[in-house]
Amino acid sequence: MPVAIQVTNVPVEIDNDKCIADKGCRTCIDVCPLDVLCINEDTGKAYMKYDECWYCMPCEVDCPTNAVKVSIPYLLR
Ligand code: SF4
Ligand code: SF4
Repeated sequence: MPVAIQVTNVPVEIDNDKCIADKGCRTCIDVCPLDVLCINEDTGKAYMKYDECWYCMPCEVDCPTNAVKVSIPYLLR
């Protein structure tokens, strides 16, 4: 039987092609009550720096370009 190796992903993914943080947007970072989103200095885009999330959703809802995708765990839906 194959060993299940699960690559753990952070719950919030940001589409670098859509994110306009390099044009000054900080909306998701500003609205997150946990301060887990940051700017990646290399890419100039937002990303999830800390793997912690309340699944409260304003980052996804308020992003002007729909770049944020929050993956809510099945048991919380
Ligand atoms: S709100 Fe959207 S566009 Fe703005 S920094 Fe966050 S992910 Fe990028
Ligand atoms: S869902 Fe809430 S806690 Fe999670 S990253 Fe977005 S704003 Fe922050």
